[in-house]
Amino acid sequence: MAFRITYSVLEADLSQLHREFDTTLSQMERNLGTEFPSWIDGKPFQSGVFLDDKNPAKITQTLARFHSVPTSEIDRIMDISEKAQKAWGATPWQERVKIIKNAAELISERRLEIAAVMSLEVGKNRMESLGDVEESADLFRYYAGQMEEANGFYKPLGKLSPNEKTGSYLKPFGIFAVISPFNFPMALAAGMSGAALLGGNSVVLKPSSETPWCGQKLYECLRDAGLPNGVFQVVHGPGGSLGNALVNHPKIKGLAFTGSKEVGMKLMRVMTSDYAKPCLLEMGVKNPAIVCAKADLDKAVEGCMRSAFGMSGQKCSALSRVYVHRSLQKEFTEQFIQKAQSLKIGDPTMQENYLGPVINEKAYNRHMSAVTEAKKDGKILLGGENLRTHTKYKDGYFVEPILASLPRGHRLIRDELFTPFLLLDTFDTLEEAVQQANQCDYGLTAGVFSEVESDVNYFMEHIEAGVLYANRKTGATTGAWPGVQAFSGWKGSGSTGKGGCGPYYVSQFMREQSQTRMQ
Ligand code: NAD
Repeated sequence: MAFRITYSVLEADLSQLHREFDTTLSQMERNLGTEFPSWIDGKPFQSGVFLDDKNPAKITQTLARFHSVPTSEIDRIMDISEKAQKAWGATPWQERVKIIKNAAELISERRLEIAAVMSLEVGKNRMESLGDVEESADLFRYYAGQMEEANGFYKPLGKLSPNEKTGSYLKPFGIFAVISPFNFPMALAAGMSGAALLGGNSVVLKPSSETPWCGQKLYECLRDAGLPNGVFQVVHGPGGSLGNALVNHPKIKGLAFTGSKEVGMKLMRVMTSDYAKPCLLEMGVKNPAIVCAKADLDKAVEGCMRSAFGMSGQKCSALSRVYVHRSLQKEFTEQFIQKAQSLKIGDPTMQENYLGPVINEKAYNRHMSAVTEAKKDGKILLGGENLRTHTKYKDGYFVEPILASLPRGHRLIRDELFTPFLLLDTFDTLEEAVQQANQCDYGLTAGVFSEVESDVNYFMEHIEAGVLYANRKTGATTGAWPGVQAFSGWKGSGSTGKGGCGPYYVSQFMREQSQTRMQ
């Protein structure tokens, strides 16, 4: 593959890539049902109690079985992690960088295999899955680069007298719990874990119970890259019991979490119960886009559709509210519906399908109840049928993408759904649109379409979100990349004000110590 896969690849000759993907997928499918362990101290842990990894596109299919870890093992895991961290934290940072860079190369080498696994277990289409895998490798490279640029985060400081030597060192906290969501099972697990590891912390990763196989793949890459035993342990099990017990353990010195606001805020309280431990939370979303009177309609329609319905609305950057200038409402709606109706829904591993299923029954039910509510309280402009009444779709959590309008103030305009559900509203002035867009507890991404620079400037100045895009046809609000778009959640979308993919990320996994030596 000569070109670079990102989330914004639109036109390139992909035929060779598709052939390679098909071959790899067939190989993976021949080995479905394999049992995998959790990983404690570099050794496989087999409890005999399984977490079954299901295919959301074929609900009855078990992809693999994972030995889950009982909470009674947590003390032992923490002792191992504590010991391993002491040696890892004392390892020269250049050596840590080397191992993480090696792991990035392995992820890139194994991208087809990992993407095939991801497409099966998450229901992402193949290009999105390949993008997720490549992003995780680039996150490792970008974060390793941050260590190098900052000279391992050592900086000489000033002197108050000629006979003193001073300096600032960033040092590891200790053991980080990393808890990742289902939707970017490589990029988010790798990004949070990689930054913590580069900082000299040890990590216990609990991947989403929907995506244990990607967790296994990440473990294999770090292990094969030369990471010492015990520095990175992977435990499988339910969030409510295992994840909760992990975060509550007194030896945990920091938490990196990405997931819903509901769970994140609960964990934040745990992390401040003894004293305030570092707690990097990336949480829920309800991202808006504004289509101004002088927008290029073609760009706006394509960009909004890709961001609202790509990955079945399950990207953290997905578009869920679009504010369209009243003068463009009719045209925008007609063109959007026409374009969206041409999207192919089906098995996400097949090249021709753009939309796969949503992740599980809970998400499916959430989507379908929102459809009922929107029919009752507003107007559905696109979709609304129960796809699972069709033979073609009955075996998976397939849903129709929705475009709807609802009265202002409705709960569906505020609450996160995390399914392909776009709400349309109209406005007369840009000030009004921005005000409506900001009336929300979340603030991750936002987009604007206008050919007038002052509109774009006003939007950039006043919108309350951490990741902004203007006139982006490949995605109104989606498609961030390491070192290109820092991904910082404002308001209820994040706790730190400094995003993954951005220049200030790695230092958050370390604590500062200044040293003054009199000579
Ligand atoms: P989730 O909150 O249900 O689960 C996230 C992780 O937390 C999983 O590993 C889960 O097992 C674990 N967990 C659940 N309950 C727990 C508990 N009590 N204690 C400890 N761990 C627990 O989220 P999800 O459904 O996997 O992912 C979707 C959510 O993630 C959406 O809200 C989405 O907006 C958010 N998200 C945000 C970003 C961002 O950058 N802001 C990125 C990706 C996803």
